[in-house]
Amino acid sequence: MHTFADTQGFVNVLLPMVLDRPLTYTTSQDVSVGQYVRVPFRNRSLTGIVWETDVPHPALKTLKPLLKIHDFPPLSPDFIAFLTWCADYTVSSMGKILKLALPLQDAFQDTPSKQTFAPPQVAHRSVVFDDAQKVALTKLLSLTTEHPDKVALLDGETGSGKTEVYLDIVAAALARGQQALIMLPEIALSTQMLRRFSDRFGAEPALWHSHLTPAKRRDTWRAIVTGQAPLVLGARSALFLPYPNLGVMVVDEEHESAYKQDDGVLYHARDMAVARGHRENVPVVLVSATPSLETWHHVERGKYHGVRLTSRYQATLPDITLVDMRGRPASQGWLHETVIDETRQTLSQNKQALFFMNRRGYAPMTLCRGCGHRWRCRDCSSYLSAHKAIGVLQCHHCGYKQPMPETCPACGAGEDALIPCGPGVERIAEELATHFPNQEIAIVSSDVLSTPKKMHETVQRITQGEVSLIVGTQMIGKGYHFPDLTLVNVVDGDMGLSGGDFRAGEKTWQMLHQIAGRSGRGQHAGKVLIQTFVPDHLLMQTLQRHDREGFYRALIKERTLGHWPPFTRLAALIVSGRALVRVDAACRTLLGSAPKTDAFEVLGPAPAPLSPLRGEHRMRFLVRCAPQKRLSAYMKTWLSATPLPPDVQVQVDMDPVSFV
Ligand code: ADP
Ligand code: ZN
Repeated sequence: MHTFADTQGFVNVLLPMVLDRPLTYTTSQDVSVGQYVRVPFRNRSLTGIVWETDVPHPALKTLKPLLKIHDFPPLSPDFIAFLTWCADYTVSSMGKILKLALPLQDAFQDTPSKQTFAPPQVAHRSVVFDDAQKVALTKLLSLTTEHPDKVALLDGETGSGKTEVYLDIVAAALARGQQALIMLPEIALSTQMLRRFSDRFGAEPALWHSHLTPAKRRDTWRAIVTGQAPLVLGARSALFLPYPNLGVMVVDEEHESAYKQDDGVLYHARDMAVARGHRENVPVVLVSATPSLETWHHVERGKYHGVRLTSRYQATLPDITLVDMRGRPASQGWLHETVIDETRQTLSQNKQALFFMNRRGYAPMTLCRGCGHRWRCRDCSSYLSAHKAIGVLQCHHCGYKQPMPETCPACGAGEDALIPCGPGVERIAEELATHFPNQEIAIVSSDVLSTPKKMHETVQRITQGEVSLIVGTQMIGKGYHFPDLTLVNVVDGDMGLSGGDFRAGEKTWQMLHQIAGRSGRGQHAGKVLIQTFVPDHLLMQTLQRHDREGFYRALIKERTLGHWPPFTRLAALIVSGRALVRVDAACRTLLGSAPKTDAFEVLGPAPAPLSPLRGEHRMRFLVRCAPQKRLSAYMKTWLSATPLPPDVQVQVDMDPVSFV
């Protein structure tokens, strides 16, 4: 590198903000690419990253000097290459991507950190692995040390000891003096999970997620980027932090769609972890009992290494029974007699039963029997859900609320005419209370347990046996271990199947299998009852037999025939605005300007299923191509060829997961 002793040099600095291009500053000091520097910007000062050095003097401009060089370890060239690739891939501005790595300017102020992180003890406490676990661990250890370029999938039943095994992979990285990042879907970052880490390593891991207080965020970020926090447990955004010395990345529950960031920069944290590992030569371990079809397919074809744990650790898999709901009069309630009988037996053995209903509130819709009026959201195209406990009707998409009505606004009919339609968790709990009036019932859903503290208290009550019946949404399905829970009842097994996208079957299978996996994790065998109207469906049949391979092979066939991923690649273009005519006009322009080539198929525009949403009208295009084609480049070309008015927004969603 060039030294500018006594002379002035010019450097380009990228700021973590929407700007796409670095800005030029002068410096009289020696700086190198990747260093953190403070610069004047408009009438403030901001910290960014030296992006290029030795740049030519831009003509006709007076430049300002760098204000300060911070002594954080500089970003490595490989990490910068990864960020650059990300911007390109997600069709985002470079500055926005840098903001994912440098999310807070607070970290660069002089305020000292309050929190420190005790070093983890590699040998604090470890389990004695059984033979199957030993084989898996040995294989993973050799993969992560000898073939860090190849992704590994740790694939094993719920309760087979995957977490114990990957904790040892993490320990190996820590023993080498490196950092370890373990990613979990936000919802699974539970106190229970945290405790497993502190039990194993005798020290708290650094936590990174969206609910940290500003001070905690600042201290944690500093500790991570200086390497003072070697063990990091984080949600998807932890992926973009500048680890100076990363030795392994573990993506637990890799199939979870919660890894997809759905606003701002749209990225899939699992896929980005794989991309980052590849560029920085850091081993990536994906973990799941129900891998995503894409990951499973990569293992089948030898692109990823598969490591399997086929049986539960000292426990058996639960028995799954399908409860046929066909021909049953609605007056008999939401829960089948078989379910009630089994629950009674479970309670008589002093065990717990879980009722899974993936819908918050009391009922998803309210209908006036007098005139047929249905309560809808002002701003969205959805019905309002009734929440009886707090006496409101609420939109589950934008949060809009109104008091529970006493009369119909359309015909004036009284309360008796207002009928809640369909069940939510509250309604199931109400029905349960009529069957089991003396039992303690807990509802586990995000509106009832809105804070981590409330969630923790409820989990505590369940673990200590103070609650015998639990009614929960998918919140209860992730990462909890209740040894006395021996019966899981799925109230509506078919819920995920109707009206979904091409992943509906896969998602439903994964969710039901995970929920079933909560049953019988302790010494007592578990049972699962699934209420369904389609007991003969391949999904139900394979679920009952624990035949994942059978179902996945059928899915692969379906995807091949339908030209869906992993056999093709997809990108969505979402066009939105408050005025429908403007959105329509923009769509026509876009349709006309889409580069015509046989390699890229442009589908749409079609109105998004949930449009309007929060008062915004949305239309979607879907672009499809063969996996090896450069889809991001196509999207970029398309957008740059299309001038659009400011009252219409377009957003590119690469590898879309949600189609609403
Ligand atoms: P998974 O991550 O596959 O769901 P876990 O690692 O959570 O499985 O293991 C399930 C339970 O069994 C946990 O309580 C775990 O501590 C325990 N367990 C697993 N393997 C062992 C072992 N070798 N020795 C002692 N306990 C184990
Ligand atoms: Zn709404």
